[in-house]
Amino acid sequence: MTLVEHDESVRAGAEWATSLYHIAAEQFERTADVLALDPDTRARLLEPRRTLTVNFPVRMDDGSVRSFTGYRVQHTLHMGPTKGGMRYAPAVSMGECAALAMWMTWKCALLELPYGGAKGGVRCSPKEMSVDEVERMTRRYAAELIPIIGPERDIPAPDMATGEREMAWFMDTYSQQVGYAVPEIVTGKPPVLGGTEARRPATGLGVVYVIEGALERLGWPVREQRFAVQGFGNVGRIAARELYDIGARVVALADASGGVSDPGGLDVPALEAWVDEHGGIEGFGGGEPLGRSDVLEVECDVLIPAALEQQITADNADRLRCRLVVEAANGPTTPEAEALLAARGIRVLPDVLANAGGVCVSYFEWVQDIQRYSWDHIELQERLRRQLRAALAKVWDTAERLDVSWRTAALSVAVTRVAEAARLRGVYP
Ligand code: GLU
Repeated sequence: MTLVEHDESVRAGAEWATSLYHIAAEQFERTADVLALDPDTRARLLEPRRTLTVNFPVRMDDGSVRSFTGYRVQHTLHMGPTKGGMRYAPAVSMGECAALAMWMTWKCALLELPYGGAKGGVRCSPKEMSVDEVERMTRRYAAELIPIIGPERDIPAPDMATGEREMAWFMDTYSQQVGYAVPEIVTGKPPVLGGTEARRPATGLGVVYVIEGALERLGWPVREQRFAVQGFGNVGRIAARELYDIGARVVALADASGGVSDPGGLDVPALEAWVDEHGGIEGFGGGEPLGRSDVLEVECDVLIPAALEQQITADNADRLRCRLVVEAANGPTTPEAEALLAARGIRVLPDVLANAGGVCVSYFEWVQDIQRYSWDHIELQERLRRQLRAALAKVWDTAERLDVSWRTAALSVAVTRVAEAARLRGVYP
């Protein structure tokens, strides 16, 4: 094959070109400018270190064979094994995984976990597949990743549309290949397979721990704040329920089916029961019905996007009516939107801090598996709270010292740590 010199497709970085990667790259570049990071380290951290693309066949229930494309992207190998979730969605791409892997690096560094970042996934529509088809796809994807994963190399975890069930299949597939049980190959497993009860609610609880810490520092009593949450999955639901339990007012909630609002505060447990029975929020009578994305524009104090990427954009940033945005999802705010929000005095607690509770408890799970020992989950929750509070303190102090946003502060702490590790390890050979 000849290389075409001016072909667009060979432009540097073209592999990753997606809007999500541009967001991650722009956030990193801004931080690198603030830190006056040297050009070599900047170039090394801007693009992922290692990427695997796999096309693999899966036998469908009707006997046909369908080909699926999957990815695994490892952003940096400086810090130890890589860590990050695997997602099933129609829009999974290498660029999207590259952005999410970079964010995992910053999350882990901010929390001082001994990992670099990774992310992977399979491009598919899981809702249109049977459980058996999802199982066969998961097992084959796990087998395809064997050349680059391992408890000391890269440890997957749940992400969008994957959970304990998929982690169990993944762990079993890997274990079948090596001939003995290897629970430490993934985190977010069912507790009986070496997982921990504390992992399930960890991301959502972490969001609330970070909110409590931040509001304490801002002098805003939690019980007096009104919260709106977009997303009612493993993150949004747990966060909303925890906020309700500590006496805060959750005034609006939405999922993919629809939303509901009540300025006086929603009955979150009743809504949970409704969703368990009906599969979604739509139709719940305990408040005013709300469009799926209208939840972002409801009047509240704290807005928690806990669903998809790129929800707060230049198109709707001017219509937000909150005082604070807490990013429970990865990458929900575009840089343009963030600038518009900053001009209006609305601050953003960034994803790499707000949703880092998941990977933090994943780390505890991995350590337990390696040691064949387990702590009780109350102890793990206490450790999680301490670790997130310590990260929040660093972000807060750095933002004040450098006079930058909380996002740039969080990334500054993380990038400084990774750059130091890269410098000390040097360049091989
Ligand atoms: N997928 C989650 C995240 O985005 C968790 C990753 C993990 O536990 O390794 O942070």
